[in-house]
Amino acid sequence: MIDLHCHLDLYADPAQVVARCRERGIYILSVTTTPKAWRGTSALTKDCPRIRTALGLHPQLAHERIGELPLFESLLPEAKYVGEIGLDGAPEYQAHRREQSLVFDRILTATARAGGRVMSIHCRRAVDEVLDALSRHPDAGIPVLHWFSGTKGQLERAISMGCWFSVGPAMLQGKRGRDLATSMPPKRVLTETDGPFGMLSGHPLEPMDAQTAVNDLARLWGWDQADAYGMMRESFRELLLSG
Ligand code: MN
Repeated sequence: MIDLHCHLDLYADPAQVVARCRERGIYILSVTTTPKAWRGTSALTKDCPRIRTALGLHPQLAHERIGELPLFESLLPEAKYVGEIGLDGAPEYQAHRREQSLVFDRILTATARAGGRVMSIHCRRAVDEVLDALSRHPDAGIPVLHWFSGTKGQLERAISMGCWFSVGPAMLQGKRGRDLATSMPPKRVLTETDGPFGMLSGHPLEPMDAQTAVNDLARLWGWDQADAYGMMRESFRELLLSG
């Protein structure tokens, strides 16, 4: 199973979740929300080769953590993956738009200078702004848009710019999410959970729940589950090798 966007450090008992994931051989991109969390979160999985920790600064925290940009830049040479980063255009973050853009641009500049990274990107209500920023920094690496919820037109633009997508069970609950997932190029789609924020039936998702998304995607694409998962394994290998 593959979970390309999970916040392992934010579960009530991270060690227990990590132990379950290790037992089941789940591949995880463990994203962080602040540069300060990166070392501790990496240490949680130091004996788990299938789990990689991404260096992030979440857009919802950008205004509070802008002072951690130098730390982000100094850790970046050691971090093979970047995320969670991006922009959030929801009304409650309007007041912090400038800080968000500044932080995202600085991160993309640093990431391009470091040679590019696979990046897990948040783009809620800010798809155009995220894509504009990515086109200003074409050498920043491979963007993976997590939990994409834009329009069909924005999806087309993201696809034409080479974006990948990570899709989870919660996103596939609604018709809108399912329609978007149906229009994504299957070769550039991987599963995620966004746990513990991603929920299903009132419970925080865990990485093994990415199976639900594999089943849903296979059904939407009209494939059988083994074929859908087989292709994701190949895409995942390709993505990590390029990162
Ligand atoms: Mn997240």
